[in-house]
Amino acid sequence: MELGIRGKRALVCASSKGLGRGCAENLAAAGVDLTLCARGEEALIETAQYIQKTYGVSVTAIAADITSEDGRTKVLEAAGDVDILVTNAGGPPPGLWSDWDRDDFIKAIDANMLTPIALMKALLPSMMTKGWGRVVNITSQSVKAPIAVLGLSNSARAGLTGYVAGTARQVAGHGVTINNLLPGIHATDRAISLDGGVAQQRGISVEQAAAERAQTIPAGRYGTAQEFGATCAFLCSQHAGFIIGQNILLDGGAVNASL
Ligand code: NAP
Repeated sequence: MELGIRGKRALVCASSKGLGRGCAENLAAAGVDLTLCARGEEALIETAQYIQKTYGVSVTAIAADITSEDGRTKVLEAAGDVDILVTNAGGPPPGLWSDWDRDDFIKAIDANMLTPIALMKALLPSMMTKGWGRVVNITSQSVKAPIAVLGLSNSARAGLTGYVAGTARQVAGHGVTINNLLPGIHATDRAISLDGGVAQQRGISVEQAAAERAQTIPAGRYGTAQEFGATCAFLCSQHAGFIIGQNILLDGGAVNASL
């Protein structure tokens, strides 16, 4: 399907690997020029070069921590006046409800709530002036169904979800859509590292932990960054202009709910 966004410009955050990279690749396949960022330079440059060579779009890569003010300033300066924003950052560490103190919550809120809000505040005005824009925030299935060990994620992402619900309806009249994509379990480094924790705790192999977790998903498998990215690209397309303020779950059926 032609997505109608050839020649648009996108900032895709936290995109050297995993779901962010999946979004970047699918936007590039639709002809979108990209600014990418991640903290580690090596994987970032490798990804940027691969995307540039494979899809023939222009790719700017900025090594920076998107959750810090300095990092954001660097990334926003390089990205300039983009049409599409995909927000993303690493998720908070797992633990028990009683583990976390104020500093842990502030860190999680900074990374997974205030960072995407700061990026939207910086980039929405020019999208609204141009009369066209797309924002996709990568959040988590934990927004719909809390994951016990990810209390920091459950909390911070709930705050972002509330902000988006109100903001999306204020900018929609200017041709700008904001939606959230909620990943369930996907086969990325993040999922493997969570499986590693379970494997260690239970004295089983990482493969066994992953196989057991896959059986908890009705689809019987983990999602892929590629299919996640394809949904993101569709939400950024011309066809998705009437989808406003939605929370779209990509979880292989894991959240057991009728609506
Ligand atoms: P991943 O495979 O670990 O990839 C994370 C990417 O983000 C890497 O490119 C990483 O590069 C970059 N990154 C991390 N922190 C960053 C920061 N502060 N500034 C800039 N770049 C940063 O993770 P993922 O699985 O794609 O997950 C992406 C998001 O979706 C996370 O918030 C995660 O919690 C959420 N999520 C994932 C799943 C899943 O099953 N995979 C499920 C639910 C929610 P550097 O490390 O070099 O910075």
